Amino acid sequence: MTARLTVLSGPSGVGKGTVVSAIRRAYPQIWVSVSATTRSPRPGERDGVEYSFVDRERFEELIRQSALLEYAEFAGNLYGTPREPVLRRLEQAEPTLLEIELQGARQVREAMPDAQFVFLAPPSWAELERRLIGRGTESSEVIDARLARAKIELDAGDEFDKIVVNDDVSETAAQLVSLIESVCSK
Ligand code: ADP
Ligand code: 5GP
Repeated sequence: MTARLTVLSGPSGVGKGTVVSAIRRAYPQIWVSVSATTRSPRPGERDGVEYSFVDRERFEELIRQSALLEYAEFAGNLYGTPREPVLRRLEQAEPTLLEIELQGARQVREAMPDAQFVFLAPPSWAELERRLIGRGTESSEVIDARLARAKIELDAGDEFDKIVVNDDVSETAAQLVSLIESVCSK
């Protein structure tokens, strides 16, 4: 079996984390990369599961060691994909998923041009705002910064190979899994 990497991006609040959690639960055959971040954990987030939570000093050490496949600053925090676990899963031909923002997706496109790039889009701008505000995990300044980034991310949707609209979480997860599996052949 061979496996190609799938990269999922989309504006903050569209539901990437929710869809990825549904995939972790219902589709254990998909390996989901765990990013390092300097952001603080939200309630319910566990170190080593949703993210590896590190301080800025440790993150900068990872950059110096070239241990990250890609990284970017997003709304005041650093996020990056540890390189070695991704390469190991791809060598073992496991269907592999990264959930990262636009600048990181562009870096992966440079490094791995044959990866599949999927954009998760909201049903509408109003629904995106409603989800981001409704999550209730950020201050109004951080929500504004994320909405400003969201406009830029939405404009970049046509850089991606596939666009999936996140209406219903289970349907979106199933659609994404089918896309991930479609680039892995026996
Ligand atoms: P992201 O990871 O893209 O920033 P989240 O997964 O944190 O987004 O989702 C943002 C908010 O939207 C959360 O409160 C989540 O419960 C809600 N949400 C996610 N997907 C859907 C959906 N398909 N329909 C309605 N609400 C959703
Ligand atoms: P959040 O703080 O909402 O969990 O994530 C903020 C943004 O960072 C989201 O768009 C998410 O996809 C992105 N992100 C998460 N992990 C990584 C990563 O390893 N690299 C990059 N470039 N972005 C990431």
